[in-house]
Amino acid sequence: MALKLFNTLSRSVQEFVPLDPAGQKAGLYCCGPTVYDVAHIGNWRTFVFSDLVRRYLEFKGYAVTHVMNITDVEDKIIKRVRETKTPLREYTDKYEAAFFEDLQALNCRMPHHTPHATGHIPEIISLIEKLMARGIAYQAADGSIYFSIEKYRGCGCTYGQLVKLNFEEMRAGERVKSDEYAKEAVADFALWKARVPEDGDVFWPSPWGEGRPGWHIECSAMSTKILGPGFDLHLGGEDLMFPHHEDEIAQSEGAAIQPAGQRFVKYWLHGAHLLVEGKKMSKSLGNFFTLRDLLARGFTGREVRYLLLTAHYRETFNFTLEGLQGARAALGRIDECLGKLRERAADILSATPAKDSNAKDIPNSDSKVADSELVKGFTEALDNDLNISAAWGAVFEWVRETNRRLAENSLKPAEAATALDVWGKIDSVLGIGAPKISEAPADIFALAEARTTAKKAKDFKRADVIRNELKAKGWLIEDTPKGPKLKRL
Ligand SMILES: [Zn+2]
Repeated sequence: MALKLFNTLSRSVQEFVPLDPAGQKAGLYCCGPTVYDVAHIGNWRTFVFSDLVRRYLEFKGYAVTHVMNITDVEDKIIKRVRETKTPLREYTDKYEAAFFEDLQALNCRMPHHTPHATGHIPEIISLIEKLMARGIAYQAADGSIYFSIEKYRGCGCTYGQLVKLNFEEMRAGERVKSDEYAKEAVADFALWKARVPEDGDVFWPSPWGEGRPGWHIECSAMSTKILGPGFDLHLGGEDLMFPHHEDEIAQSEGAAIQPAGQRFVKYWLHGAHLLVEGKKMSKSLGNFFTLRDLLARGFTGREVRYLLLTAHYRETFNFTLEGLQGARAALGRIDECLGKLRERAADILSATPAKDSNAKDIPNSDSKVADSELVKGFTEALDNDLNISAAWGAVFEWVRETNRRLAENSLKPAEAATALDVWGKIDSVLGIGAPKISEAPADIFALAEARTTAKKAKDFKRADVIRNELKAKGWLIEDTPKGPKLKRL
């Protein structure tokens, strides 16, 4: 079934068709953190959302290239560097390390590329040169280079692809007189900021004098360098839609680096805001949380991830501490079911055989039905613009059905092993896992069962051959009063 996503560019739900003619590869870019402080829970909603998109594309069989930039030069960073008298790299390294620690704690898959703005100054300069050559960028009296929205529109390009803009309010006539704004029109934005004394040591040489890149241009330069001039998916929080993403489009399409008829990005996906305890997060309201704050309160990254994944990405989500308690309870229900499944799967020959002893021979046993219902329900839900609530509905329905079968002792060990395999596939998307314990995959269980059958038939030679095969695969089979048990070597 086809995956459909809400594309901000078309304001509609569209089928995802990658640019790759073979339909295999998918390029995904998500605006990364500005490493001037520790990321807050609102930021994490966006990163967990982008992790869900990446994992689901992988689940659907796409070979995803996931890029997330690190903004390591920017006004706020320079201010902090100046205040703390710390070298730029030393300052940003600390917060970058904290970011990746948190990313791991939330079990987000590591992006394949995490380019730094400071590591791409030549690419940024080259992109600005292209805009200058096309007459879309200009140098202002302060030495900075600005993007001219008027010239860009004059080239037949559209500024305002993601949002509707009122150009009457953005006319060149409305100049801002302050020295700070030497640009020609209010909406023009800086591509290259000329060096000022407050920048301290933070500057690079360029054809237009010493300075540093603007924030928007770094995303255009790094995304197109790694993913090519046009790519499939660009993600970010809805607060970045304007001006950041609009400016990314303008810079990339204005430089005309795309082949004719191709756009900078095919699908733009935006995650909605997060409220905390019903209000906009703010330090003064006491509802401002970093992941670290929540861990210090005894919650786990897994609980936070679960809670962030309970709401649809386009809906404003109210994050509460009570919600985290609920996440703990929900995960407990899943863990309990998985724990019982593991126990059942480990009993190759149970002391109390399953009532339904022929279940293995019935092609559509209840267990198989429950497993395939889970995959079907889960996939249908996420194919529908990542309808995560419906996906959780399928998960908890499966938990209920599996618990019922476990309670009535009608689930055979092999079925339990298969159910765990199915869960593993589902969890490759959800990433909520379960506390790690050694667990044998289904093929190992199949071998163990074959050994039991051989022993029952008194074919001890074959039983030994299988035991050795298991050993070669790293598993030890132990005969216990309750029956054979599998252990990892
Ligand atoms: Zn960006």
